Amino acid sequence: MASILSQYSSPALPKTRWWSEETVAIVTGANKGIGFALVKRLAELGLTVVLTARDNARGLEAAERLRRLGLRVWFHRLDVSDRHSIGDFASWFRCTFSALDILVNNAAVSFNEIEQNSVEHAETVIATNYYGPKLLIAALLPMFRCSSSTARILNISSRLGQFNKLQNPKLREELEDEEKLREEKIEEMVKSFLGDVKNGSWKANGWPEVWTDYAVSKLALNAYSKVLARRYRGRGLSVNCFCPGFTQTSMTGGKGKHTPEAAAEIGAKLALLPADQLPSGIFFASSTTSASAFSKL
Ligand code: NDP
Repeated sequence: MASILSQYSSPALPKTRWWSEETVAIVTGANKGIGFALVKRLAELGLTVVLTARDNARGLEAAERLRRLGLRVWFHRLDVSDRHSIGDFASWFRCTFSALDILVNNAAVSFNEIEQNSVEHAETVIATNYYGPKLLIAALLPMFRCSSSTARILNISSRLGQFNKLQNPKLREELEDEEKLREEKIEEMVKSFLGDVKNGSWKANGWPEVWTDYAVSKLALNAYSKVLARRYRGRGLSVNCFCPGFTQTSMTGGKGKHTPEAAAEIGAKLALLPADQLPSGIFFASSTTSASAFSKL
């Protein structure tokens, strides 16, 4: 763990760029916030980027702003909480591009103000933040480019979803056992949480205490990333998570320690690590001044 920490304490762009304008990245939920800043940064660095958004008008407007800067940005509508929208997007992508290199699962929702903790919208939060990336990955997996530069998925996650936020020691132990962790266990956990929400017992059952539904959605995303990373290890696909830290966006009501652009600067560097330095199954966490990585998601 120590070597990983120092290796990524200040990620720099590789001196030799492995990517070109033929390199294609998709960013979800990119009409504003960190997603928009990530599209901009990746396109500035010379990639072709597909900006996606659930709202057609907002997405088109955002893509147009970047195209006016001369950036290679495409737009297609994508609501990650809607299976039909995912299917439609995947078909469009297959017809429009030869292959995919980078997928950034950024889209997410939280319905709480900073100090609140309501689980009224738990189903939507789980559907968007966990099932959204999961179903989109499944739809796009066949399109990842097989080449010497490893294909990569970067899931924008949160420290709130780290396993140590669980107060339930049995569940925490099960999730932390990397060898035994399975997709079924994660499904079971998510269903158990939604069951607790329905019957009103969620406060008593050891779930994370801050932004509980959001935290469980990111916990599931972190765990699923580990499962995927193990499944594709040595097969040309890396899967990592990145927590951008407390960032000034709509999600935080504009509060935060840094701008979306600062978060995107680090996110883009992580997404563009050279194949020989690209880990898999890592949780990158950025602070205001640096990014560091932890081997436990
Ligand atoms: P924003 O609220 O600014 O942006 C969220 C984006 O996701 C918006 O474009 C929103 O679209 C989109 N979105 C929401 N639901 C869907 C959906 N069903 N389908 C497609 N897109 C959708 O938040 P941030 O930029 O802060 O969040 C970006 C990522 O960073 C998220 O994954 C978040 O969890 C993570 N994060 C943010 C932190 C912070 O402090 N800001 C801290 C830790 C993690 P619309 O405009 O239509 O609502």
